[in-house]
Amino acid sequence: MNIREKKEKSEIKNLSKFAFKAINTKGRKENIEECEIRTCFERDRDRIIHSKAFRRLKHKTQVFIAPETDHFRTRLTHTLEVSQISRTVARAININEDLTEAIAIGHDLGHTPFGHYGERVLNKLCPFEFKHNLQSKRVVELLEKGGKGLNLTYEVIDGITNHGTKYSPSTLEGQVVRICDKIAYINHDIDDAINANVLKENDLPKEYTSVLGDSKSKRINTMIKSVIKESLDKDVIKMEEDVFKSTMGLRKFLFDNLYFSKSAKEEGRKAENVIEGLFKYYIKNPKKLSAEYYDCIEEYGLERCVCDYIACMSDNFAVDRYNEFLIPSSLI
Ligand code: MG
Repeated sequence: MNIREKKEKSEIKNLSKFAFKAINTKGRKENIEECEIRTCFERDRDRIIHSKAFRRLKHKTQVFIAPETDHFRTRLTHTLEVSQISRTVARAININEDLTEAIAIGHDLGHTPFGHYGERVLNKLCPFEFKHNLQSKRVVELLEKGGKGLNLTYEVIDGITNHGTKYSPSTLEGQVVRICDKIAYINHDIDDAINANVLKENDLPKEYTSVLGDSKSKRINTMIKSVIKESLDKDVIKMEEDVFKSTMGLRKFLFDNLYFSKSAKEEGRKAENVIEGLFKYYIKNPKKLSAEYYDCIEEYGLERCVCDYIACMSDNFAVDRYNEFLIPSSLI
């Protein structure tokens, strides 16, 4: 028996009966020889970490566009926080930590430059629905590795695709990432907003902080413990009702007062202009697309390829292309 087979056996023996076991995977689009050492989900995590899309996350906005100091979250550090919280929960309730980690590490690969604003403007410009979770699916299935995709397992792709609020992942591991994504961003976005002097701790509605706690670490602690308490030995992942209500209340507060607040809108409008300018430019000048996207026009259509190319850009790359193509060179 090789190391992987021992691990698969140990999952069956030791994990919760509700955990998804590597041996039960529905597999990959293209069959490949199994690794001697890693389970299929450990292998998927590694494939994602070695991808170009994963490295680009370091220069993509989480909330604050082009922050001036090093301490604000980026899409990469957000992803790492989601992974850390998700693994804590998965391990506590004894489900598959490797599958959970692979989903968490890959969930935001399809995020656009400039965070929510980039996503919103691409959705407006494209003749099809643009959502970052659906784009994450395209990245891992089609766009990575020069159009070959990462050939991940069905369960990892399912968790990545369905991590948004309105979706429901088919495994508990996917459900853990879906709720821990919210736990991560609600708490770290408040932290960043306080550090940026956009919000004060006292601005947070008391009806929610009285349930969740009056500091970042207390709130994370309350939310994680609540998920573990409600989900241990169950076939569904959830929080206690009052904690969930307060978490979602705080989330709504952030949407109204941070993500789409008056001051954020001002910066967001500039970001939208960059994306819109680039979109229109590439539609008129498709030869300026990078070759791997240009070559797909026949297969996927021009708008789809322009959208894929812009969605994959980091903030800096998008601004550089905007300056290159849309600002007279004597002015930069
Ligand atoms: Mg996320």
